[in-house]
Amino acid sequence: MILVTGGAGYIGSHYVLYAHQRGEQLLVLDNLAYGHKESLPSDVPLIVGDMGDKSLLDSIFTTYKINAVVHFAAYAYVGESVTAPAKYYANNTVATLAVLNAMRDHDVRQFVFSSTCATYGNPSYVPMDEKHPQNPINPYGESKYFVERILKSYDHAYGMRYTALRYFNAAGADPEGSIGESHDPETHLIPLVQQTAMGKRDSISIFGTDYDTPDGTCIRDYIHILDLAQAHALALEKMRAGELSAIYNLGCEKGYSVREVISACEKAANRSIPYQEMQRRAGDPPRLVASAAKAKNELGWKPVYEDLEEIIQHAWNWETNRKY
Ligand code: UDP
Repeated sequence: MILVTGGAGYIGSHYVLYAHQRGEQLLVLDNLAYGHKESLPSDVPLIVGDMGDKSLLDSIFTTYKINAVVHFAAYAYVGESVTAPAKYYANNTVATLAVLNAMRDHDVRQFVFSSTCATYGNPSYVPMDEKHPQNPINPYGESKYFVERILKSYDHAYGMRYTALRYFNAAGADPEGSIGESHDPETHLIPLVQQTAMGKRDSISIFGTDYDTPDGTCIRDYIHILDLAQAHALALEKMRAGELSAIYNLGCEKGYSVREVISACEKAANRSIPYQEMQRRAGDPPRLVASAAKAKNELGWKPVYEDLEEIIQHAWNWETNRKY
């Protein structure tokens, strides 16, 4: 059985859907601080609790036959991490350590970790490969970077095999529309643009129009949420087959500007979307684009939804028919 921490969150729930459809036995641990229990298939058990709770972890590892952990649970608001770093280090780093220690104590040695391109900080070159220097520029990125370092030492000392997946910008939703993105508060570009298209917001703010990019707005690499899910499944497959620990970027290897995202959302919604040009948002690198060659070559990862319009169409289908 696979323990999925944070399995009721945006990325975790799409992995649960993907793995459940492929016959994996799953157990979700989520404190539902941001997750939605409605996002889980009815026959996937959910334990509501904190991953930092040692006695809860001991009872989970004693009660269930867990042989791997896929670890999504984390706080993920970059801006908040700057003003409330304690919350981020306590949860994303220290509570993750509790999960790793429980795994070690109960002899579970396979761990798939949600890492992030935020561990790189400002790019010194793009596309960024896994060898790019890691100099996170906010506590969120740091909290994940520390876990990567811990994993390296736990592998060396305790034989903990891990795959760290450094995501670029997760986007889209289940194409069938059963689950999708639902953050409160919402800070991500695509849902905010689409909520503006639906009239739920007056306008979308474009954070910075004076970047050194072709249209002056920031460029990001948007990756479909189910393609992320696929990579987690492949990572686990590899580790089950005896592969050593590894680190992979996950992105589409294509960059789109904020203005291009707004245009694609206008096309999906078939209406124009009001926007306001605002100051830059602190901590935003101008351009983040992945090289995902390593995941493609070594993991055998084959992204299915590489077209931004399709990613945005799935997000739009969800946004206009949300279930939670
Ligand atoms: N962005 C924007 N307006 C918004 C939200 C985001 O212009 O209301 C920009 C943001 O500055 C960044 C890009 O959209 O360049 C993607 O931001 P998001 O928060 O979705 O993801 P991040 O790149 O921070 O992980």
